[in-house]
Amino acid sequence: MKGTRTLTFALAIVAMGAMLAAQQAGPAPGESLSQSYRGSQSKNVEYQKIAPFKVMDNLYYVGPGFVSVWLIPTSQGLILVDTAQEPYVDTVIDNIRKVGFDPKNIKYILLSHGHLDHFGGANKIKALSGARVALTEGDWEFMATTAANQAKAGRGPKPGDEPPAKDMVINEGDTIKLGDTSLKVYILPGHTPASPAYEFTAKDKGKNYKALIFGGPGPRNGVQGGEEFLKSIERLQKQFSDVQVAANVHSFLNSYPYPNNMGLLEMRDLKAKNPNGPNPFINNALWKQWLTEAHAGAEKYIADEKAKASKPTN
Ligand SMILES: [Zn+2]
Repeated sequence: MKGTRTLTFALAIVAMGAMLAAQQAGPAPGESLSQSYRGSQSKNVEYQKIAPFKVMDNLYYVGPGFVSVWLIPTSQGLILVDTAQEPYVDTVIDNIRKVGFDPKNIKYILLSHGHLDHFGGANKIKALSGARVALTEGDWEFMATTAANQAKAGRGPKPGDEPPAKDMVINEGDTIKLGDTSLKVYILPGHTPASPAYEFTAKDKGKNYKALIFGGPGPRNGVQGGEEFLKSIERLQKQFSDVQVAANVHSFLNSYPYPNNMGLLEMRDLKAKNPNGPNPFINNALWKQWLTEAHAGAEKYIADEKAKASKPTN
């Protein structure tokens, strides 16, 4: 009895300690708030569990601090874009409840691309809701191959990190329709073989705005990935320079940070400070500036990768 009580007491102290640590933790010197979630505090689980927040009338942020999970309520149920990963999936589910929706009503889980930090919660949320999980053919394949290679090498995927079984395949030009809401699908490779982007209409105070979720906002995979990414950025500059609401897949981007330090959490705080003012998430100039910086960054990435590839190995 006494042992149990001591253990309970000790556990309570540990839990309190973690909560206190989360409350006291913050950005390291020189780090922005959004950046801290992917930088100095990336392993601080309690710190990552931020409260959900409303971005537009039909767009909520329900993810942990380091990776976005977007909730789009419609007249016929919910659309979730990305799922985060363990140990944050229950937080995502709770966050959906906290903003007033029932996670059982999720009809679609749209993945932004086939990386674990985005798909890791898909199995749990699908089991809870019966939602269809959607991704491009190229990224379904990429996700399965990555997991198979990990298994072959005897390193995972860890329990809870398994990719979802192949479900709905989405293609360039598809429209995903649910109730009063439609999302148009584009394929913009470079971060992964076939990262999708989703275009939809976001509403704020009764007005419509062009919103885009760009699934793969940084180059990977050497010269080839860099060149694909550069083409994707050029396509965005041509076809999507009028985007007003960029629903970004991370609060902070390690590759090409958002201009003027305007990460998602800085925008959240600006909105909270001035709830009746202009919505800071509606910002076409910021989007265009980011595209310019990502374009320059992609050119540099390709040059660096070419230099690396031509270095003699001995
Ligand atoms: Zn990724």
